[in-house]
Amino acid sequence: MHRLFGTNGIRGISNEDMNSCLALDISKAIATYYIKKLKRDITIAIGTDARTSNIMLKTASISGLLSTGCNVVDLGLLPTPNLQYIVKTKKFDAGIIITASHNPPEFNGIKVIDGDGTELSAEQEEAIENIYFEKSFLVANWKNIGKLSHLDNATEIYIDGVLSKVDINLIRRRNLHVVLDCGNGAGSLVHPKLLEKIGCKVTLLNCEPDGFFPGRPSEPVPENLHELMKTVKEENADLGIALDGDADRAIFVDENGEYIYGDKTLALMGKYMVKKNKGGIVVTPVSTSSCLEEVVTREGGKVIYTAVGSPIVARVMIDTNAVFGGEENGGLIFPELQYCRDSAITSAKVIELIAKENKSLSELIREIPEYELVKIKVSCPNEKKQLVMKTFKNKIKTEENVRKIDETDGVKIYVDKGWVLVRPSGTEPIFRIFAETKAKGQAEKLANRYKSILEETIENI
Ligand code: MG
Repeated sequence: MHRLFGTNGIRGISNEDMNSCLALDISKAIATYYIKKLKRDITIAIGTDARTSNIMLKTASISGLLSTGCNVVDLGLLPTPNLQYIVKTKKFDAGIIITASHNPPEFNGIKVIDGDGTELSAEQEEAIENIYFEKSFLVANWKNIGKLSHLDNATEIYIDGVLSKVDINLIRRRNLHVVLDCGNGAGSLVHPKLLEKIGCKVTLLNCEPDGFFPGRPSEPVPENLHELMKTVKEENADLGIALDGDADRAIFVDENGEYIYGDKTLALMGKYMVKKNKGGIVVTPVSTSSCLEEVVTREGGKVIYTAVGSPIVARVMIDTNAVFGGEENGGLIFPELQYCRDSAITSAKVIELIAKENKSLSELIREIPEYELVKIKVSCPNEKKQLVMKTFKNKIKTEENVRKIDETDGVKIYVDKGWVLVRPSGTEPIFRIFAETKAKGQAEKLANRYKSILEETIENI
């Protein structure tokens, strides 16, 4: 069946595939799913990021929700984790955020949040899709049409929540200077105030919400953050922070203006959280660099690997009572606040660590071990993928130097020098190969070795 939900909700180009009719009907399906599941009156919170189609899609969505008898609370413009925090703490039955995260400005999307503030599981999304395609929507009697209300202080409630989880006095004593680049996204509503409240001197870049993203493209990758890197250096700031469009991810720049890759920040915070808790479980996808496991193990903690996808990481964290988790793209999860990627608490915790250790960010990052990670793609028609994966798994069992094979997501092959992960993409006709080694110059060799085995398998099917 055609799937609407991708790895991060429903996405498309505004007024083309992501239009008001889709927003209307999918919202009817979301409300129908929750009313049938909970068997009572329900309330769903809704919010948007800063895109030009936000009000168009939000009003269509609200209309669909109300038509089923569902009550709606409009939270306005806010980051995705802000909406997640409000859904959880205000005990709403679900949440809808109109966002396309880091995608270019012409895109928009719809993401559904469960009553506990986490992203939906694939099974829940499928149940909503079934209602959408069958058009089996509940329709309320005219007396029972839902009611709309507004919550005006959603960002203040969230900022207070984040502040309650960090040592503000400790941070204040250090007088840190932060350059903040919100990329004209939803973080503009939260992060400038938050950083000011913890006593940082803040230089703002692109902190006006603007759906055209005039400052920079929304994805916080090195090529989009030249202005931030330059400003940190010029201003002699202690660090730089860049957010994606819906502010669930944060990327850092050190005091020398150097970009810090997400796997290093993940390891730095994993180490900090395990040390603070004197042990504990850290959850991350199989694709994450071993630098996390190395530092977590050294501090007496344990890493549990999951399939790729932040909803899966969050749910395993709940089940295992983990102390920390996250992805290498800057999406870090601190369970003491909530079980979702959250750039606000991530920013506050990185600043707290700098204050506590009294070291510069570059010094802290230098303590994280270096690994070499290579990522490549191999084309393969979607219909062949399943058989290719099965044949490939059989083939590699007889390969020399294979220490362990893990089938959590695709296949992860541990060899003497490192590991290789081969997994089919969920959205494109490709396989992704990740290879990591500790020794320099070896990862590419390792990736290419398994690339040829995979290509040979694809050719023979
Ligand atoms: Mg995002």
